[in-house]
Amino acid sequence: AADLDLISAHVRDVPDFPHPGIIFKDITPLLNHPEAFAVAVRALAAPFRDSGIDHVVGLEARGFIFGAPVAMALGAGFVPARKAGKLPSDTIDQAYDLEYGTATVEIHADAITPGSRVLVVDDVLATGGTGRAAVDLVRKAGGTVVGFSVLMELSALRGREKMPDVEPRTLLSV
Ligand code: IMP
Repeated sequence: AADLDLISAHVRDVPDFPHPGIIFKDITPLLNHPEAFAVAVRALAAPFRDSGIDHVVGLEARGFIFGAPVAMALGAGFVPARKAGKLPSDTIDQAYDLEYGTATVEIHADAITPGSRVLVVDDVLATGGTGRAAVDLVRKAGGTVVGFSVLMELSALRGREKMPDVEPRTLLSV
């Protein structure tokens, strides 16, 4: 509980970002606090220490910041899942719906080998659209999604309901 208090004390509410009426959860104070950052990384990785994770997929952009040290903690490779058009080599992609329009996430086609055991990591679970797309993308690549680990869940947006097949692990729920 002390760990979770330390983490939540370093997440800041920013009202009216990126749009009026939205309260943005800003995790940059946590990144800038060495102990809180280390505790958060350990807590994200902990449930999966004995899960035989081969790859951690981090979602652009804040999922890279947490996903990379989680991968190192688990002795797994790190795979960046990027927005369309950013990765240089052959990709596998997955489209998903946004409030207005659609977006696409991609990984390199050779990043995940069939049968790989994969943990997906991001900072915030909101509506679940991003996480759902990432899970579907990993499966399209032949990977087994072992888990989805995020720092914070905005429970009112019910993103969890979009991924009953994965059961997201969240450190904080607001
Ligand atoms: P979703 O697809 O609606 O679940 O939104 C999740 C994505 O948007 C994640 O990649 C988050 O990084 C980002 N996101 C949504 N709301 C917030 C927030 O309040 N703080 C930080 N990131 C957020």
